[in-house]
Amino acid sequence: MHAFAKAVVLAAGLALAASSAHAVDPFFPTFGNNGIDVRNYDLDLDVAMPSSRLTAKATLDIRALEDITTFRLDLTGLTVSEVLIDGVPAVFNQRNESKLTIRPRVAIPKGKSFKAVISYAGAPKPIQDPTVPDDPSYQLGWFTYDGATYALSEPVGASTFYPSNDEPTDKATFNRIAITVPAGYTAVANGLLKSTTPLGAKTRFVWSMDEPMTTWLATVHINRFDVKVTATTTGKPLRFYSTAATPAADVASYAKSRSMIAYFETLVGPYPFDSYGSVVVDDPALYYALETQGMSTFPLGAADEGIVAHELAHQWFGNSVSVAAWADLWLAEGFATYFEVLWPNRRSPAAFDAAMRRMYDYAVDAQLGPAVVDRPEDIFSDRTYVRGALALYALQLKVGTETFFRIARTWQETYRGRNANSRQFILTAVDVSGDRTVSTLLSDWLFKAPVPPLPGGQPSAARRLGPAPKPDLVGLRCGRGSHRGAPAVCAGAAAN
Ligand SMILES: [Zn+2]
Repeated sequence: MHAFAKAVVLAAGLALAASSAHAVDPFFPTFGNNGIDVRNYDLDLDVAMPSSRLTAKATLDIRALEDITTFRLDLTGLTVSEVLIDGVPAVFNQRNESKLTIRPRVAIPKGKSFKAVISYAGAPKPIQDPTVPDDPSYQLGWFTYDGATYALSEPVGASTFYPSNDEPTDKATFNRIAITVPAGYTAVANGLLKSTTPLGAKTRFVWSMDEPMTTWLATVHINRFDVKVTATTTGKPLRFYSTAATPAADVASYAKSRSMIAYFETLVGPYPFDSYGSVVVDDPALYYALETQGMSTFPLGAADEGIVAHELAHQWFGNSVSVAAWADLWLAEGFATYFEVLWPNRRSPAAFDAAMRRMYDYAVDAQLGPAVVDRPEDIFSDRTYVRGALALYALQLKVGTETFFRIARTWQETYRGRNANSRQFILTAVDVSGDRTVSTLLSDWLFKAPVPPLPGGQPSAARRLGPAPKPDLVGLRCGRGSHRGAPAVCAGAAAN
């Protein structure tokens, strides 16, 4: 317990240092804007269906991180009609097609908080995914299909539907996401459903995410949904949205979230948000699930408990504790992949070991590089998912299962609602375990090219059978939690 208390003190100091370091991410330098810290987004979206044309007002609470004469927000493909700064009209332009540049009537001194109200409209369109710059079939942001709409933005698609500071270290609450749609449609977003108000020919749904969220995790879904409402074992609302096309097996898998949350809480601490749920996208072009905060998104026909466990684990790892840079995405995907393997093997440590060792064999055969990546094209690669999960497994073998989960819990307690990086994870692991050699072990897994040996590792029992096949994991089957790979292949795999 002594080491535990010390870890909190040590890491709390680091967290303070990290929280002030808002920075445009080097992988996506044209997104995000220095000089501002958005504290809260209040979004008021009126969406015409089926066109999904948007008439909107965004109210941003912003703190100036430097003296401001002009500042910029990310906004793409939508036309701004008015900007008010603390109630006073401001000069603005959209000459840069992905930026809204605002000049307040009076300069804003460093440290001052102010309110920006932005009125805008247009027909939102997705943008090119910069992690696959050469393939126009990979897009991000707001999608419209067959009379329905959804928004999935990892890593930089938020600007397709709201003005944002679109970089991972500027987390903010979204205390009101109001979506007004024609009567008969249901609108789903992040967090708690606060109200549903009939307005004649329209209905307004108001959602609220009171815990800090990165911009890319904000989501909107509009469709003719059915909803099943239940609660976690601690009484938090669980809402599962499906459509007429959703197979019953999918709905049954999503309902497993209840027992998964209870199980994960015993390992890594309390579920970090006020509610959870899932929402299904019918669009056959969608081939991956995404951990949209407090309301995970799934493609149709992905009735797999592993996918459900993966996206749920992200609520702790990636969403509540966010990466400080995209290069460190293993801190999210490595944990999610680890829990994806753990959930189906939770009653058999031997089966879990066998699965992880088989994954290890694959990493060796594929000569997977270090978990921390150095270019945007690799953030959704096997390095992030597989070598990330194996780094955690190696740590578990080194320090023991009880200490391993104490490290994971301390990580959650220390950085809840914040960003953190690989170095801070290593410090937490060393401090909680009291074992300095853990630093070398993790550094080898995270930063060095050769796949390190597993502590005390023997070749897996299956090794003699020959080369290890690619493991059947969400993150690998279609890439990202499942992102990469040919969409057609992934759609087929998801339907199995
Ligand atoms: Zn994932």
